[in-house]
Amino acid sequence: MKERASIVVEEYLRMIYSLVSSGRPAKAVNLVKRLKSSPSTVHATLSRLHRDELITICDKKEIELTSEGLLLAERLTRRHRLVEDFLCNTLGISWHEVHEHAHMMEHGLTPLVEEKLAVFLGFPKSCPHGTPLPGEDSHLPDDMRHLDSMEAGDMVEIVVVDELLEESLDLMKFLQDKGIVPGRQHRVLEKTDVTKTVVLESESGQATLPFDIAEKIGVINVDLTHS
Ligand SMILES: [Zn+2]
Ligand SMILES: [Zn+2]
Repeated sequence: MKERASIVVEEYLRMIYSLVSSGRPAKAVNLVKRLKSSPSTVHATLSRLHRDELITICDKKEIELTSEGLLLAERLTRRHRLVEDFLCNTLGISWHEVHEHAHMMEHGLTPLVEEKLAVFLGFPKSCPHGTPLPGEDSHLPDDMRHLDSMEAGDMVEIVVVDELLEESLDLMKFLQDKGIVPGRQHRVLEKTDVTKTVVLESESGQATLPFDIAEKIGVINVDLTHS
């Protein structure tokens, strides 16, 4: 078996992949924040990844994955999302907390266990938060928009809660309690540019979300779908 990348290296690759996939620049400063690490540790690790030809850093200081880095990141990300599905839908662990458990387990999966798990789960196309498994991006609807671009009165169905939001357990619990999970429908009650908030209403009650969270929630307009 080919020697596995260290856990730290895998973590960095997955985080860079996650930022780039959600259209955000992967910069050292973002990694410091997201990995809750010190700038010097992040810089040292990035130099290692660069030396091992897993990343390149462009003029704008944005980190890009090389083809080998991308391959490793995709493999780990696939394992992460499969494990989340298993924890949530098979073991019945709460939707809001599977991310951090998957985070611990994903590094220990051998390729054989990963394949058997995928078969056992029926080859899920996304994690329980709606993020597609690598290579399954076409599974997101073409007419998907982000919640901050919807207007008062729109009826929306949640498609995906961006992986970047999964890092906050309290926020995920709030979203789960308010039914802001894939497949559930909500009415946009208010959208206020001055306070930069969106208010949703559903059978789970009302929820006020700031734009910077709403922009990380993918939805489809169900009024349009049904008209
Ligand atoms: Zn996750
Ligand atoms: Zn997830």
